[in-house]
Amino acid sequence: MKKVVVIGGGITGLSAAYILQKARESGEKIDYLLVEKDSRLGGKILTEKIDGYIVEGGPDCFLSEKPWVAQMARELGIEHRLMGSNEASKRTYVYADRRLNKLPDGLMGLVPTKLIPFAFSPLISWPGKIRMAFDLFIPPNRTGEDETLGSFVTRRLGKEALDKIAEPLIGGIHAGDPDQMSLKASFPRFIQMEQKYGSLIRAMLAARKNTPKPKPAEPGKAQKTFFMTFIGGMGELTDTITEKLDKSKVLTGKTVTKVEKGPGEKYTVYIDGLEPIEADAVILTAPAHEAAEIVREFDKVMADNLAGIPQATSATVNLAFRRSDIHKPLDAFGFIVPISEKRKIKATTYSSSKWYYRTPGDDYVLIRAFVGGAKNQELVFQDDESMLKMVLNELRDIVGLTAQPVMYKIYRWVKGMPQYTVGHLERVANIEARTAANPGFYVVGGSYRGVGIGDCINVGSQAAEKTLAYLQNSGQRAAASGEY
Ligand SMILES: Cc1cc2nc3c(=O)[nH]c(=O)nc-3n(C[C@H](O)[C@H](O)[C@H](O)COP(=O)(O)OP(=O)(O)OC[C@H]3O[C@@H](n4cnc5c(N)ncnc54)[C@H](O)[C@@H]3O)c2cc1C
Repeated sequence: MKKVVVIGGGITGLSAAYILQKARESGEKIDYLLVEKDSRLGGKILTEKIDGYIVEGGPDCFLSEKPWVAQMARELGIEHRLMGSNEASKRTYVYADRRLNKLPDGLMGLVPTKLIPFAFSPLISWPGKIRMAFDLFIPPNRTGEDETLGSFVTRRLGKEALDKIAEPLIGGIHAGDPDQMSLKASFPRFIQMEQKYGSLIRAMLAARKNTPKPKPAEPGKAQKTFFMTFIGGMGELTDTITEKLDKSKVLTGKTVTKVEKGPGEKYTVYIDGLEPIEADAVILTAPAHEAAEIVREFDKVMADNLAGIPQATSATVNLAFRRSDIHKPLDAFGFIVPISEKRKIKATTYSSSKWYYRTPGDDYVLIRAFVGGAKNQELVFQDDESMLKMVLNELRDIVGLTAQPVMYKIYRWVKGMPQYTVGHLERVANIEARTAANPGFYVVGGSYRGVGIGDCINVGSQAAEKTLAYLQNSGQRAAASGEY
């Protein structure tokens, strides 16, 4: 029987294992082992229920425009658990010039598509607004060369739009530095827009015209909103996949130390404290910097390219308060903080305003602050007490919140967010060239072609499908050569 080892039990590895499990159930002669170094599966998806609060340590949502999470939920029978965001709170503030400014209505991506709210917004100065309008006249860059997000936005919309909108809103999602982030790898849509319409504003106006009006939810289905989650948090997704896997095929608390090529067409997987395992195929889903060490002995070029993908460090600080202690309305999804403001938090989500059912009752609120990211990583390494104090000081200064939390929980993500810096696509192409030269060896996950949970499900499932096809073909090759 052919054997596959899946390394890493985050959403990518779980998605791959799920496809292999289904193949087994439908009679394919295949065995698999999912190896995870942590004591739990899920990787960066980590939901905890603490004193009746639903606390998200990592991601709190997925983007509904990518179909793969909803497809997986349907497949797993948990579609009814999907939940849209609370649209009554659908607004975001930007902390700039020592106050919270509402992001103007009609701002799509980066650019204004409604004149009046934008014109009256105090967020961007008048010179800044006029500079943004230059986008209508600046010719597109036709060199085809990659550039950073920072250079692109400054070129098209000006420095103020970069500092107050693009960096906190878009760079913030990746915990990245816009002056390092590759436009081609992270935001290929902006390039298509510039090439097709010659202007981001014209592209967004066209997109707005073509956006269908939101439809009421179908009976029994969640209202589709831009951000979506599960009623019990994102962990419902990884927990349900875990339940579907055969427990004897899952090894947690065990670290893969290296993979070697051979004997023959096989691979040998070394797991800390266990006998090496021979595998016909390997799906490696550990984050790139960890994957680099696993492959270093058998393919140095692949290892160097994997190690060349930087990873940023960040933390989420979840805080619960008595509602009666909060004297300002938490009437938004939260606020973002530009790096140029030199504060110690990057953003704050008002979790119990963005989502329903996050607290033990209406008398409490839950919020979470983000610390760290590419430019402030050192802040993540202080102890819990100092981090809590720092975040409370920031919330006092920014929103005037002076209450003490009734519960708090901090999650640190050291090297937790891959950075798609300029040159990323070449690095990924080099890695893929090396895996193509090693049949049956696949390297996938959030570090390469999309950090979103939907992207990870997609690439993890595809890697498993490719593995199955490869094993079938190699079986046929062996049979033809009379091996068995
Ligand atoms: C704070 C934060 C917020 C985020 N918010 C969102 C969001 O709202 N929406 C969204 O779509 N995405 C979000 N993301 C990104 C998203 O969570 C990740 O891109 C995605 O979960 C990555 O999944 P993965 O399986 O590729 O990697 P991981 O989840 O990192 O899984 C890899 C697994 O490999 C294991 N591993 C590593 N080395 C070894 C080894 N040697 N042996 C065995 N196992 C090993 C690790 O322990 C880990 O469990 C967020 C990320 C972070 C950090």
